[in-house]
Amino acid sequence: MNSINDYADIVGNETIEEVQKLASYLNGKIIQNINSTAVGGGVAEILNRMVPLLKELGVDARWDFIKGGEKFFEVTKKIHNSLHGIEENISESEFKHFMDITDENLKEMNLYGDIIFIHDPQPIGLIKIKKEPGYKDKKFIWRCHIDLSSANTKTFNFLKKFIEKYDYSVFSSPLFAKKLRIPQILISPSIDPLSDKNKEIPKETINEVLERFKIDPEKKIITQISRFDRLKDPLGVIDVYRLAKKYVDCQLILAGGGATDDPEGIEVFNEVLAKAGDDKDIHVLNLPPTSNIEINALQRASTVILQKSIKEGFGLTVSESLWKSKPVVASAVGGIPLQITHKYSGLLSRTIEGTAIYVKQLLQNPEYAKQLGKNGHNHVKHNFLITRHLRDYILLFLKTGFKEDTIFL
Ligand code: UDP
Repeated sequence: MNSINDYADIVGNETIEEVQKLASYLNGKIIQNINSTAVGGGVAEILNRMVPLLKELGVDARWDFIKGGEKFFEVTKKIHNSLHGIEENISESEFKHFMDITDENLKEMNLYGDIIFIHDPQPIGLIKIKKEPGYKDKKFIWRCHIDLSSANTKTFNFLKKFIEKYDYSVFSSPLFAKKLRIPQILISPSIDPLSDKNKEIPKETINEVLERFKIDPEKKIITQISRFDRLKDPLGVIDVYRLAKKYVDCQLILAGGGATDDPEGIEVFNEVLAKAGDDKDIHVLNLPPTSNIEINALQRASTVILQKSIKEGFGLTVSESLWKSKPVVASAVGGIPLQITHKYSGLLSRTIEGTAIYVKQLLQNPEYAKQLGKNGHNHVKHNFLITRHLRDYILLFLKTGFKEDTIFL
């Protein structure tokens, strides 16, 4: 695990000193993060790095999980999809099940934090406890990682009852903000440039990973790293590859694992395998959650990276790839346009055909691809690294956890 000072080489000493100073004002307050999974997906990815760094900064940050069975996560996945605007039929008994499991978690969990920082919809109902004696002085923040701009009204209204009981809400993009009676804070996610997933790695490691997965190092590679989720459109990625391959010989890597709170993964994985058929140039990789070096190597070995999501909260995989100076073609949805300025730091597309044309263009024009990757790297460096995120979160904690007159910066 890297120390906060190790980041000075990337972001400069001043940034580190500022974060250290801000953290010192938190003065022993306990920040209790709560979500629904330790592994898989962007929220776990961020908390895995954020919590230890906050601790090193002297902030008493903790991380707890809610529990839920298969049925609960089927309901929360439906809620997730429906908040992204996908048609889902959520019955009254499913909403009731969501509440029953919330109540069970409330009985079992200890909400000990001074600031209780709840991530995403799965644990949102824990806010019910705020009205109980002993919780009056605690501050509750709800962090939403989802693009709510086309959320299903019924599902959103169900959640809104809870959201408005929080002291603050946090969204990744101004486009996701809703009409709410509580303050909405804008904080975009981030990647850790020194984590195993993003740090520089030797060429030998990259070659070793390619060899292990039987990927030809001499043939151009198109890659999408994502959970096997329909909203990431892995089947559309295969269509894109097939169109591009008519013009440029290439191979496709579709790599991803599951998340414990995502029950659809296996089904989608099997659909992808079926569609890939016996094409030896399509590598469908089911990766265990510890595959950070492998993902790093696959991204670095790629000629072009795709993120063909249909909906996307932010899409950490885009920043991860841009950080590695890779040209990215991604859908113009959710938080992706925050990361890519079209034709400057990557390419944005809306259709399978459009994506394929851009992929072909990048495969045929390495100089253009290199320039996009370079611009993308600089954009991530200035906007989406964990040091900026730490600063934003600490400022948020200071704002919510203290009386205004005790903050002197
Ligand atoms: N990821 C991973 N293993 C996988 C698939 C994804 O470690 O098999 C990581 C990926 O590198 C990224 C995160 O999980 O850091 C996914 O975050 P993103 O915002 O792209 O999508 P989400 O899964 O949260 O919808």
